[in-house]
Amino acid sequence: MDKHLLTMLVCPVCKGKLKYQKEQQELVCTFDGLAYPIRDEVPVMLENEARRLPEDEKLALAKEAKQEPAP
Ligand SMILES: [Zn+2]
Repeated sequence: MDKHLLTMLVCPVCKGKLKYQKEQQELVCTFDGLAYPIRDEVPVMLENEARRLPEDEKLALAKEAKQEPAP
């Protein structure tokens, strides 16, 4: 998967930045709590194809994001 391409992708719902989850092969929007699947190296940027994150997973990701240094 092209890392540069991944950084260009935004959430189709809120246009926010997505977090690439290498293990799960998902692109996560922590704001909406949606995880977009990557199928055969192709990110599926459709809200109705996205997985809804359970509240605890959402919180864990939000917490993780806060620990990243500000740009
Ligand atoms: Zn979003």
